[in-house]
Amino acid sequence: MIVYSEITAIKKKIKSLKKDLSIGLVPTMGALHQGHLSLIKQAVLENDVVVVSVFVNPTQFDKKEDLDNYPNTLENDLSLLESVNCDIVFTPNPKEIYGNNIISENFDFDGLEFQMEGKFRKGHFNGVGTIVKRLFEIITPTNAYFGEKDFQQLQIIKKLVEKFNLQVNIIPCEIFRESDGLAMSSRNVRLTEKHRLAAPFIYKTLLNAKELFGTKNVEEVIKWVENEFKNHPLLELEYFEIADEKTLNPIKKVISGQKYRAFIAVFAGEIRLIDNISL
Ligand code: AMP
Repeated sequence: MIVYSEITAIKKKIKSLKKDLSIGLVPTMGALHQGHLSLIKQAVLENDVVVVSVFVNPTQFDKKEDLDNYPNTLENDLSLLESVNCDIVFTPNPKEIYGNNIISENFDFDGLEFQMEGKFRKGHFNGVGTIVKRLFEIITPTNAYFGEKDFQQLQIIKKLVEKFNLQVNIIPCEIFRESDGLAMSSRNVRLTEKHRLAAPFIYKTLLNAKELFGTKNVEEVIKWVENEFKNHPLLELEYFEIADEKTLNPIKKVISGQKYRAFIAVFAGEIRLIDNISL
């Protein structure tokens, strides 16, 4: 495994490989866990060379304290990456990516960016679009892997590829969960013990909502979920939405033949957790 932090060096390496080899890219912000590793293992199976980027992208954080508190576990990340046969790691610093001007590009993602996370994290998807586009330019991957854990992000990356006509296949990967159902996240290590014990309630509620979706109308399902959290002493609901998978528009009524997903964001103390489920 080779670790690069400079763009010119990794570009040179990629150029020498790209002639006859497929390249899989897995963008991450580090603090790696089994959820990340599931993406990387899939990339290893499907590509000749796998590049994992580890970069805590400042422009996608709407709150400075969230950026400042983001876990940094590079040494452990590198040994995990080695253990799953990652070939190349890219760990640039912010200056390498942004120079002296740490700002995002402005994107039009046809409205996907204004739903859910976009409402609560201003500028978040401009930051995501900026870093992913930049990584695609540097690594020129054949395939790039994104988790359904961040389903809205996945749809936005697909839109980015379509809008800029980028030559890369976007591969969605299923949500990887703890044995109690909590979606794995780098933020989980920051949960207090009591919030960690409470957090599986989020996925349980999603499973129940999925079951109710077959028997009740959309409004009733939403009301039911909101009520579940009103009665919860430790978890505070930020949003629960049922939306069309492709447009991410919230729905009022079910139309047959369309695919829907339920999306949720919850505060467990200071820590914000997101999850979603296909309905
Ligand atoms: P992050 O480091 O949080 O930016 O995540 C890097 C990539 O890993 C993103 O594509 C995430 O959607 C994905 N990812 C994070 N957690 C999970 C999980 N529990 N299951 C599947 N993919 C995940």
